[in-house]
Amino acid sequence: MKVRLFKPSVGEEEIQSIQKAFDAAWLGLGARVGEFEQKWSQYIGCADSVGVNSCTAALHLALSAFRFPKGKKVLVPVMTFAATAIAVLYNQLIPVFVDVDEHTLGISLEDLERKHDKDCVAVIPVHFAGHPVPMDQLMKWAKSRNLKVVEDTAHSAGGKYQGKALGTWGDLGCFSFEEKKCMTTGDGGMISSHDPELLKPLRHSRWVGINKDTWERYEENASNNQEANSWYYEISDIGYKYNMNDLMASIGLAQLEKLDRMNRRREAILQQYLTGLQQNTDVRSAVPYVLQDSSYWAFVVRVRDRDRFIVHMKEREVATGVHYMPLTMHPLFRPYVSETPTALSIWRELVTLPLFPDLTDEQVEYVLSVIHDYRA
Ligand SMILES: *Cc1c(COP(=O)(O)O)cnc(C)c1O
Repeated sequence: MKVRLFKPSVGEEEIQSIQKAFDAAWLGLGARVGEFEQKWSQYIGCADSVGVNSCTAALHLALSAFRFPKGKKVLVPVMTFAATAIAVLYNQLIPVFVDVDEHTLGISLEDLERKHDKDCVAVIPVHFAGHPVPMDQLMKWAKSRNLKVVEDTAHSAGGKYQGKALGTWGDLGCFSFEEKKCMTTGDGGMISSHDPELLKPLRHSRWVGINKDTWERYEENASNNQEANSWYYEISDIGYKYNMNDLMASIGLAQLEKLDRMNRRREAILQQYLTGLQQNTDVRSAVPYVLQDSSYWAFVVRVRDRDRFIVHMKEREVATGVHYMPLTMHPLFRPYVSETPTALSIWRELVTLPLFPDLTDEQVEYVLSVIHDYRA
């Protein structure tokens, strides 16, 4: 392949940061995770954050924070990565699939109102490709319906809507640091909130339910405390092995330093794509990219004869992807099928094109020239 679809931007800074964890010979859950959580909270502007090993884990734990009774319903967009809806199933809740907005591909506010019923307890908006769901309107609606809001911010790290960071609008925000996302820790995730009380139990559930992690016990042991019981801990609730570790956090700390730069570079690349495609009627941008304070994860276009276009790109060594097949088309989610006509028709036209900070201007020109060669 001449041009990859996604590529993490990693180098010397990350290596040096990992070296610090090696020097301390502490690789598991420790001080580096704490430092990353603190810097992340400061960066997005929230009270506290809990580092986990994926955004899938983050979504699972975030929903569990509310202890909803089994069998209640959670509204999720039908066109998203499976983790958004699988987190609902993990919590023994029922996903209610909501159609997407034709222009933003985010959750449709009109369809939310249609799909809502008295058994709904929460909604999980996804900022599709990094494009913000109008959170002012969504939050107002959710409050009026007494719903909790968990933001799936996996597609956006560092993006803002009306000057306020995505992932800080809802009760809880979940981020992904998987290698293809806006910034990476290899695999990894974060749960952030303005409410530390909401996060407190999640700190235990990411560590098998233990109320004191190894690092805290180590610190107690190292302190002047003469008591012998620093080994003591209790488990009151079921937990999971979902913690972030100091190796991941080391990469995260270096990536966070670069995040704004990477997001600005993504904006410049998107600008180059959008300008190049202005006259092209066969290949149109699928999302209204607003290139300010943004954190776009993917460049998604609409093409009528999608599969032929994908082959055309592949023959010229440009990687493409499809995000996403509506979830109700998967056997797992078929029992929860609902009417989502917009997603079911639009997804057949969607193609994701290469976007990552290290993509060069020449590579973007090359991708554009290959696109212009395509005749629908
Ligand atoms: C990638 C992704 C996730 C899951 O992230 P992981 O860190 O890979 O678990 C969740 N939701 C959406 C919308 C995603 O794209």
